[in-house]
Amino acid sequence: MAVRIDGKAVAATVRAGVAEEVAALKEKGIFPGLAVVIVGDDPASRTYVNNKKKACAETGIYSEEYALPASTTQEELLRLVETLNQKKDIHGILVQSPLPDGLDEEAVVEAISPQKDVDAFHPENVGRIMIGNFHFLPCTPAGVMELLRSQNIEVAGKRCVVIGRSNIVGKPMAMLLLHQNGTVTICHSKTQNLAEICRSADILVAAVGKPKFVTADMVKPGAVVIDVGMDRDENGKLCGDVDYANVEPKVGYITPVPGGVGPMTIAMLLKNTITAAKLQNGWQYEA
Ligand code: NAP
Repeated sequence: MAVRIDGKAVAATVRAGVAEEVAALKEKGIFPGLAVVIVGDDPASRTYVNNKKKACAETGIYSEEYALPASTTQEELLRLVETLNQKKDIHGILVQSPLPDGLDEEAVVEAISPQKDVDAFHPENVGRIMIGNFHFLPCTPAGVMELLRSQNIEVAGKRCVVIGRSNIVGKPMAMLLLHQNGTVTICHSKTQNLAEICRSADILVAAVGKPKFVTADMVKPGAVVIDVGMDRDENGKLCGDVDYANVEPKVGYITPVPGGVGPMTIAMLLKNTITAAKLQNGWQYEA
């Protein structure tokens, strides 16, 4: 039977650390602030934004919400980002994706000041991650690394396989594992012999977006399986990319969905907001 990595518990520990650090910063006159921008009325985005605001409130981080109608133009959105770039009480800016059709997400991300880019999606921050000289790490992959650390799982020398190569999860995930000296393979929809490659993994990270995609025959006995997926099963119930019921008995460690990687993402966003506040107050960030 596998060790079930409890993301809720690990996230709670991270958040407690954030709350302590926020209190210490406030004593020094620094009040970390996050602006969350939401455009349109996508219900899932609304839930994410509410959760982020709630997490800020619980840890003492000041937050502002900017809810714009779906009819917002690119120019209006870019103007708001520029205003937030200049705002002294805002250290982090997050524009909730997806944006409504007609808005250019890439241009919006590039307009955010790299020092306030708490999602770490700006090309400057992506480049920094690539060379290993970064201020921020993208929240979901950073959350996965924190989960591995929480179990004292050594990455160095391990065979790591990441399924998925998106800019927000797969690619940075692979890079973080590489920074920790894993031997990393990235798989995608054109990969051949996927099951065989996955079976070679000591650490398998699934970020595919397909319910129960990773089956028991695709994992090595005793492997560490991290499920980033947030999918819906045939009954509309939230599930991951991993067929948990059948994979769990075979592996050494596994994250559940819900309650695995998901809670870590917001916890890491809070950490990045503190880092941003420090950076903007002239403090060197220690990675
Ligand atoms: P994405 O942009 O759709 O990327 C999916 C990746 O999976 C692509 O690289 C795609 O390959 C690959 N893929 C698709 N079908 C495949 C197949 N049959 N075999 C091998 N690879 C295949 O998705 P994403 O944004 O990275 O998100 C992935 C999942 O993580 C989703 O379920 C999402 O909801 C979840 N997620 C969770 C969190 C969290 O906080 N827990 C955060 C972000 C995302 P190609 O590149 O070749 O198309």
